[in-house]
Amino acid sequence: MTDNTPQNSLTLLGLGDMGTALARTWLAAGHRPTVWNRTAAKAEVLAAEGAVTAASPAEAVAANRLVVVCLLDDASVGSALDGIDLTGKDIVNLTTGTPAEGRARAAWAEARGARFVDGGIMATPTMIGVPEAGGYVFYSGSRALFDTHRATLEVPAGARFVGEDPGHAALHDVALLSAMYGMFAGVSHAYALTEGEDIAPEDLAPLLSEWLGAMGFFIGNAAERLTSRDFTSGVVSNLAMQVAGSGTLLRTAEEQGVSAELISPYLELMRSRLTADPAAHGGEDTAGAITLLKR
Ligand code: NDP
Repeated sequence: MTDNTPQNSLTLLGLGDMGTALARTWLAAGHRPTVWNRTAAKAEVLAAEGAVTAASPAEAVAANRLVVVCLLDDASVGSALDGIDLTGKDIVNLTTGTPAEGRARAAWAEARGARFVDGGIMATPTMIGVPEAGGYVFYSGSRALFDTHRATLEVPAGARFVGEDPGHAALHDVALLSAMYGMFAGVSHAYALTEGEDIAPEDLAPLLSEWLGAMGFFIGNAAERLTSRDFTSGVVSNLAMQVAGSGTLLRTAEEQGVSAELISPYLELMRSRLTADPAAHGGEDTAGAITLLKR
């Protein structure tokens, strides 16, 4: 049964894999979204499931105050909304972008009389509408908009509001993704090292998971050190020792015929921190090397 009262009515622009997953969870929750997609066939599939289809982005935007946008990139958002009257609209942009794109898009929308919130989706389409999967969305920008539509926004996935700077949803999103790729790089290197040996990937997998879980303490430890700027108290694995040990990692890669390209940048960063002032930094935690990254 659908309930298209203003409290739960919304427009959705973009029915790719993610937009379609979002639309289906709103439909399942009793909303009747108005949908638009550049390739109309994808909207027709949703129409058969109960969505209202719009022939153009302008028609879709006119249908509801809340307009959720989930397109490929910021350029596609610009082209889809170009020239459309946004006065009085509440725009929630779930399209992945950079912090600067989020801020610029917010200013662009506000100049056209709309309220704006940017979002960063921390989930794959299969996690949308599945609370136990743990996916959620970072939101930032207009707190008033977020509070008005929070219940609707929480239907597909959990909502985490991270402040009124419209760039901060994207910044949180990208920070977490960047950390993820660092982990992927390390795991990829580990599998490459053991490939061709009598060590099955299936046997290494639980050891890697266990070890990375145990080493997760670095996250909170580094946060405390960055805040206090104390990189030396209570250090049990000092930088000088770690830089000396990094030679073993590089020689092992060479022995195994594996490129060290995925791990050498971090090892090099530690070495740079040490060689800048061995007496000052040799006893530090590796978190001190973070200070070298800011340009
Ligand atoms: P898809 O590639 O499946 O869909 C892209 C969507 O953007 C389609 O609706 C496409 O329309 C539309 N589009 C592309 N270019 C234009 C344009 N110039 N004008 C109008 N519409 C355009 O991507 P997803 O749905 O997976 O992703 C959508 C957003 O969600 C992206 O920003 C992505 O980064 C983000 N996201 C996706 C995740 C995922 O795992 N899929 C995870 C987290 C975030 P058409 O159908 O006509 O091609």
